[in-house]
Amino acid sequence: MYVLPDKYRKGFIKMDNNRYSSNRPRRKVSRRTYRNRRLAALAIIAFLVLILIVLIANACADDNEKKPSDSKSGTTITTTTTVTDEAIPTTVTTTVASTVPKNDSDFKLDRQTISIMVGESDMPRVLEYPDGTVEDDERWTSSDKEIATVDDYGHITGVAPGVCYVILKSAADLSQEVWIKVTVRSELSDDETTTTNMPQSNRTEAPAPPVHDTEGLTYINGVLLVNKQYGVPATFEPKLEQICYDKFNELSTAAAKEGLSIYISSGYRSYSDQDRIYNNYIEDEKKKGNSEARAKEIVDSYSARPGYSEHQSGLCIDVNTIDDAFGYTPEAAWLAEHAHEYGFIIRYPLGKEDITGYQYEPWHIRYVGSKIADKIYKSGQCLEEYLNVG
Ligand SMILES: [Zn+2]
Repeated sequence: MYVLPDKYRKGFIKMDNNRYSSNRPRRKVSRRTYRNRRLAALAIIAFLVLILIVLIANACADDNEKKPSDSKSGTTITTTTTVTDEAIPTTVTTTVASTVPKNDSDFKLDRQTISIMVGESDMPRVLEYPDGTVEDDERWTSSDKEIATVDDYGHITGVAPGVCYVILKSAADLSQEVWIKVTVRSELSDDETTTTNMPQSNRTEAPAPPVHDTEGLTYINGVLLVNKQYGVPATFEPKLEQICYDKFNELSTAAAKEGLSIYISSGYRSYSDQDRIYNNYIEDEKKKGNSEARAKEIVDSYSARPGYSEHQSGLCIDVNTIDDAFGYTPEAAWLAEHAHEYGFIIRYPLGKEDITGYQYEPWHIRYVGSKIADKIYKSGQCLEEYLNVG
């Protein structure tokens, strides 16, 4: 028989003294008092039932743990997390009968897919935690340690070729979990798998973009640079470059084969387009009560001044929704992983805000050709770093 811990028993005794063991002679109780007593009795019964349920759940969970886990099953992933509360140890077992990533938690990661070679390591960054969860509450597990392992800090290491999931849970709130798809490639057969499994388009190289000799353009190592320091003349009107458009279509077609929809939201913008956009933003910020100077400061962090927008180069595209939420979609994850294969780079990466001068824009891709895109992708640099300009 389960014996209540002292702290609970004390509570009951105290209640007894107050309510029932009074030395006063018993009086006829009113209906109201009677009802209150009945409610108190019910509350006590409910409390006891609750304790019973917790004990039974506990016993069942222990039972599950003792069973050998079915690690051979390809579709069932079982993760067991033990959380120790002050008094009552509780074991919660979650069985997820599918390999579909569960990504509706309040964890925000910089990506939800990772592609590594055997022996290589990578680590997704946690950008936001669910309410009440802190870094120490991170609990990392791998769905298949024979494919990839993960340590307490989220370092994922490839063990053998294959696909598995790394699951991040919150010890503070077990309903909060996010899955990261991990693809581990074999070092030796990498070239083989690239040519056999990848879409047709990857076998053809995305050529370098065209070079214009218009005065006032800045080319560094053959790459047209447009940023806050290096502008383009108002008269420069290349429209969306054909190669950029064609390669984007290849990219979009490859994504569609994986059930993802990546479409152009904003491509080429002329000087006057940008002039209008920039000034509209300024007006919006002023309506919010910001001064002219403050409005400019705010708008400059996310929009280019006319003549300084990369969109005027005809070599970049904003895809899908121009919104931070886009960064958490499977389309954004796919884009980050594959854009370079089509000659594009994520132009304003996370963590490079001080160098690019722009907030993280997972939707803004810039065409540079696959040779450079590949180098930039692998180096983790942004374009300014790659071109060695401040
Ligand atoms: Zn853009």
